[in-house]
Amino acid sequence: METAHDIEALTGGAMTSIWSWVQAKIPAGVEVFDAHAHIGVDIDGRTMTADGMRERMEAARVEKSIVFPLNDPNARDDYSGPNDVVWNAYEEHPSFFVPFFRLNPHMDYDREFGRCVERGFLGLKLHPVSQEFELDDPSVVRLFGMAAEVDLPVLIHAGFAMQRIVEPLLPTVEAHPGLRLILGHSAMVEVLWAAQAFEEHPNVLFETSVVQLKDLYELCSSVDPSRICFGSDIPYGDLPSTLHAILAAAEAAGVPEEAIPGILSENIRRWFP
Ligand SMILES: [Zn+2]
Repeated sequence: METAHDIEALTGGAMTSIWSWVQAKIPAGVEVFDAHAHIGVDIDGRTMTADGMRERMEAARVEKSIVFPLNDPNARDDYSGPNDVVWNAYEEHPSFFVPFFRLNPHMDYDREFGRCVERGFLGLKLHPVSQEFELDDPSVVRLFGMAAEVDLPVLIHAGFAMQRIVEPLLPTVEAHPGLRLILGHSAMVEVLWAAQAFEEHPNVLFETSVVQLKDLYELCSSVDPSRICFGSDIPYGDLPSTLHAILAAAEAAGVPEEAIPGILSENIRRWFP
């Protein structure tokens, strides 16, 4: 496989100077972990292959990525097809990917949930906007309970176009304190409220992909850095830009340098030893 290890191949050279700043900010020895990336096909025309993902990771020196399906036009009822694409990607590149599966809570999800857990998927992705549900719909609350029962981490899209995050989610977090939750895009529409509401819930992490700088700054200023994890949202975000955004926000907010390895790697890596 011919890979583009040169970051310029990804950015057309436009980001070279920013990229050197980013590289200088990443402490030596940190194995960067991307907590949010997609493989497959989206209804909006975006695509990402396993090879394309791996190529981007190697170019940006990212060691591991959590990967899951897009809003796939072929999802049909249960997402089994797109989930299989992610599983195959994981089997081809086992040291690069941490596979999550995706479900539609409106559909009969028990069978696919069981199949994916048994297969060895390491987490679940839910998208309230794409699949048009609220976080306190009974079928969703039940799904959170099932994930808690089998100790399965859940990543929720908690960003663009969300109307309600903290208020519908808090009862679930309180009912299942052991449930490991990743708030995709850092609950950016309610970031200060979320920071306060989930402060006492260490199993809730704030993931940083494609969040506006002002919201990343608020996040870095209001939650303990041990609760923040880097994400790219490839193919919507790219690794150089999203790494730059979180590192710049952390610096501006005065996050101590010794907390950077946690944000870029350790805070999420400890969930997947
Ligand atoms: Zn995403």
